[in-house]
Amino acid sequence: MANLSQKAFGWAATDTSGVLSPFHFSRRENGADDVTIKILYCGICHSDLHTAKNEWGFTKYPVVPGHEIVGLVTKTGSNVESFKVGDRVGVGVLVGSCRTCDICQQDLENYCRKMIFTYNSTDKDGTRTYGGYSDIIVVDQHFVLRFPDNLPSDAGAPLLCAGITVYSPMKYYGMTEPGKHLGVAGLGGLGHVAVKFGKAFGLKVTVISTSPKKEAEAINKLGADAFLVSSDPVQLKAAMGTMDFIIDTIAAVHPLAPLLDLLKMNGKLVTVGLPDKPLELPIFPLVLGRKLVGGSDIGGMKETQEMLDFCGKHGITADIELIRMDYINTALERVSKSDVRYRFVIDVGNSLASL
Ligand SMILES: [Zn+2]
Ligand SMILES: [Zn+2]
Repeated sequence: MANLSQKAFGWAATDTSGVLSPFHFSRRENGADDVTIKILYCGICHSDLHTAKNEWGFTKYPVVPGHEIVGLVTKTGSNVESFKVGDRVGVGVLVGSCRTCDICQQDLENYCRKMIFTYNSTDKDGTRTYGGYSDIIVVDQHFVLRFPDNLPSDAGAPLLCAGITVYSPMKYYGMTEPGKHLGVAGLGGLGHVAVKFGKAFGLKVTVISTSPKKEAEAINKLGADAFLVSSDPVQLKAAMGTMDFIIDTIAAVHPLAPLLDLLKMNGKLVTVGLPDKPLELPIFPLVLGRKLVGGSDIGGMKETQEMLDFCGKHGITADIELIRMDYINTALERVSKSDVRYRFVIDVGNSLASL
């Protein structure tokens, strides 16, 4: 039996309205391999909204979302040597995996069939996992990340999901060769960080977006080299066959044909957004240009640590709007309309306890 002796407080959705309200619950006592963390900041990911409203069909209520967590260690178990009380740490999308399968052995816990999500999952002890819209969390040390000293806790939090989601495929699919041309389709939470990684890797980066309004910001603020309005056939035609890779962060159903046409021969299109319906895959441009379409889902623990260290070294953070906990329902509403530049982060440490 799990010893649920640590009192916790957070905000939970209790039905498909997705409206969150204050929620008292318990977390397990800190075990030998566990780290207990006082949460300071938590980013708001689109997945939080999908899950709060049960849009993917597997939500079990009540659900406390949040998987871009930064906080301070308050307890460590007897087997924990890499973390001590007071350390600043991060927790992302995963809090568990089997640790023994061939996938886990390759440090790819994110693809383990027994992986445990930070919220809305069943933990090893049979209890529900609750995420970062809460005051504390208890996590096995293997799934806790060191937060580099020079990364700010608030603007660094979104790296734990949005950051690794684009960093991992860029590494795996070889999108890191300086001078190559990267297209970033969709300029939201994921896309804006992909632009920053692209520049840090020395790539030429073109943002591909439906909204011409974002052009000035993409170039002046995020450092993109060019901007392509995806609904403009003239611009699309001019850019045909010019890109080595495209990272497609668009979460809505969208046509792939225009993106595939932008790729050079041997070009790669990697999708990381999760539209809720299948996309149509045109085969001719793939066959005739030896092009590749791939996917990717977050990253393993080792690579997530590498990504955080890379961000610390290169000064990469998310552009955020910091909010109080009690603004959460308005924030989620705004996330549903993509009305945020580019990620909300909840100031959990300063706004949750004062309710
Ligand atoms: Zn996420
Ligand atoms: Zn495994």
